[in-house]
Amino acid sequence: MMHKLTKAPLALNGLGRCFITEKHVSAVKIIRRGLVVAQHESDSGKNEVYDVIISGGGMVGSAMACSLGMDPNLTGKKILLLEAGNKKVMDKVPNAYSTRVSSISPGSATLLSGIGAWEHITQMRCKPYKKMQVWDACSDALITFDKENLQDEMAYIVENDIVVAALTKQLDGLSDNVQVKYRSKVVKYTWPMPHQAADSIPWVQVTLANGETLQTKLLIGADGPNSMVRQKLGIPTVKWNYDQSAVVAVLHLSEPTENNVAWQRFLPTGPIAMLPLSDTESSLVWSTSHRLAEELLELDEESFVDAINSAFWNNENQSELIETAGSMFRGALSAIMPSAGSPRQLPPSVAGIGPKTRVMFPLGMGHASEYIRHRVALIGSDTAPVRIRN
Ligand SMILES: Cc1cc2nc3c(=O)[nH]c(=O)nc-3n(C[C@H](O)[C@H](O)[C@H](O)COP(=O)(O)OP(=O)(O)OC[C@H]3O[C@@H](n4cnc5c(N)ncnc54)[C@H](O)[C@@H]3O)c2cc1C
Repeated sequence: MMHKLTKAPLALNGLGRCFITEKHVSAVKIIRRGLVVAQHESDSGKNEVYDVIISGGGMVGSAMACSLGMDPNLTGKKILLLEAGNKKVMDKVPNAYSTRVSSISPGSATLLSGIGAWEHITQMRCKPYKKMQVWDACSDALITFDKENLQDEMAYIVENDIVVAALTKQLDGLSDNVQVKYRSKVVKYTWPMPHQAADSIPWVQVTLANGETLQTKLLIGADGPNSMVRQKLGIPTVKWNYDQSAVVAVLHLSEPTENNVAWQRFLPTGPIAMLPLSDTESSLVWSTSHRLAEELLELDEESFVDAINSAFWNNENQSELIETAGSMFRGALSAIMPSAGSPRQLPPSVAGIGPKTRVMFPLGMGHASEYIRHRVALIGSDTAPVRIRN
């Protein structure tokens, strides 16, 4: 569902955070096919050669590692996940919400369920929402998205840390199939020649910061934005800056509500979005000019909260001309389609923000121009069409 929505320009900022796309699911399938073929190839006899090394254990690399580790076709294959950072375990869910959240579509939830991580996520923390309301600040234009009569969840807001912790837990249970090395930063990749020379190594060589060198028949680059794998392969990205920044924060609502709607309002300076985290908290993504973002960061908490409420509620940008044109259009539309139009709901008001949660990120777009090279596949952040430039 979110995939369809993310294709709509309306949902690009804030509401479009969906980390495992259909593209990634296809990548898993292609990689599985490639490995089944590799099974029939003769082995070089070197024990240190891995069948697959995944470089980068963020959300995408860890999900790929689980998926490969659970695939019965790959039983007995040597699979290694390398992560530069520490192991992200979560014995207890922290009281405070994180600002880094993703909107997980039912399709992605099914994928996570298939690799055993969704159950861990629901046991830890996630918030389903049933409806999305997107509306304009300069007119009465409004569009809503929901599943059949609000019966089903449209998507789920989940903190990225929770997703990674759930995948890490799942990987612990797959330790017979997938080896994981934390605090293992890759510092060098050596690529095989496409046409094998007699004395050349036919596999990708991966050198770690501790000097260890490993070999793999297939390298999966899941090393995030500005992927080193992509850069070392010389694969260019199609990219541009939006010349906007996103201000994010955890919001405390004025009173508990069902909070099952994702809100996004288009202001003249850019969209502001509020995504449900719990009955009393939501996640803010306010995309705006760099200058206004900096000003929002400088405001004291009370003025910042006032600015958010007024961005969602204030009608001072509405123009009589646009309103007249809009109401004529709606009148004509209702004559042709009597059921057209959506009931307007009012967003919750905000009373405060979580301590130290107000942060600003420049927005940009970057997209690798190729995903596959000889013995290498790229997945994750650098293949995503829209992202925060982090
Ligand atoms: C506030 C915020 C909002 C965001 N919103 C969006 C959004 O709307 N849409 C969107 O697409 N994205 C968004 N992003 C970006 C989002 O973080 C990524 O889409 C997501 O994390 C991608 O996951 P990933 O696993 O590909 O990369 P990452 O989460 O970056 O994981 C990469 C992993 O690789 C590891 N690594 C890197 N280099 C090496 C190396 N040399 N050796 C070993 N390990 C290495 C890193 O330690 C890291 O754990 C947002 C980010 C922020 C901060």
